[in-house]
Amino acid sequence: MGLFNKKKNYIRINPNRDQTPTSKPSVPDNMWAKCPSCKRTLYKKEMGEEKVCPHCGYSFRISAWERLAITIDEKSLEEWDNQLPAKNPINFPDYEDKLAKTKEKTGLDEAVLTGKALIEGRPIAIGVMDTNFIMGSMGTIVGEKITRLFERATKEKLPVILFTASGGARMQEGIFSLMQMAKISAAVKRHSNAGLLYITVLTDPTTGGVTASFAMEGDIILAEPQSLVGFAGRRVIEQTIRQKLPDDFQKAEFLLSHGFIDQIVPRTTLRTRLAELLDFHQVKGWCRE
Ligand SMILES: [Zn+2]
Repeated sequence: MGLFNKKKNYIRINPNRDQTPTSKPSVPDNMWAKCPSCKRTLYKKEMGEEKVCPHCGYSFRISAWERLAITIDEKSLEEWDNQLPAKNPINFPDYEDKLAKTKEKTGLDEAVLTGKALIEGRPIAIGVMDTNFIMGSMGTIVGEKITRLFERATKEKLPVILFTASGGARMQEGIFSLMQMAKISAAVKRHSNAGLLYITVLTDPTTGGVTASFAMEGDIILAEPQSLVGFAGRRVIEQTIRQKLPDDFQKAEFLLSHGFIDQIVPRTTLRTRLAELLDFHQVKGWCRE
């Protein structure tokens, strides 16, 4: 009987439990980030302007504007072809809406930004792809802009530096998207025939039709550490060949050890490396007499 009499310390229920707390602890947005490679939580300021994980060296995905800020000389960009009219070649539902919203969100007119700029005083034609714009996918305008980039670079005798980042072809444009691969490749070849230098920098992720065409056509192919570079995805390949693939398959380091790329360059030294390569190929600067 004594068993029941002992229980006197009841749990106290907070009568205000359903009300919203007036001062709840909060953390400012965008203060922390999780590294997708080493899975550590990082204080964003630790990553610096280049946005590199201080623990494992993973280079976070950055926008085209952020890329320009850490790559070219300040205020040296002359943007090209940013007014090309968007089309919906296969009448894909709501495609125009999606484009309009993405343009507003990113401040870009398409998934690639092109133009002329300086790297430490050396003139170049530059293209930067941005995964924030429909996963950096390659549609007709992306194809046209990159083709024009090479054609104008050929005319002005400029080397081309192209930062690739793409999920592949743009499904909203169907077969027209795939046709861009051949069109760009022809322009790359004409630029090459004119004896001009083409450097590609593969960034995370470079996949699909972009890998299968201009990303792999550079005279010099650089990559950022731990970038994913491939054509078809891991699952598709495993199901097709019925074999397990190595863990580092399609990582930049794996590609380097198998001879697909020339060098892995950390983002913090990329600008200097590009300037050295341009010098090595005797690109005369506008600012250097
Ligand atoms: Zn990391």
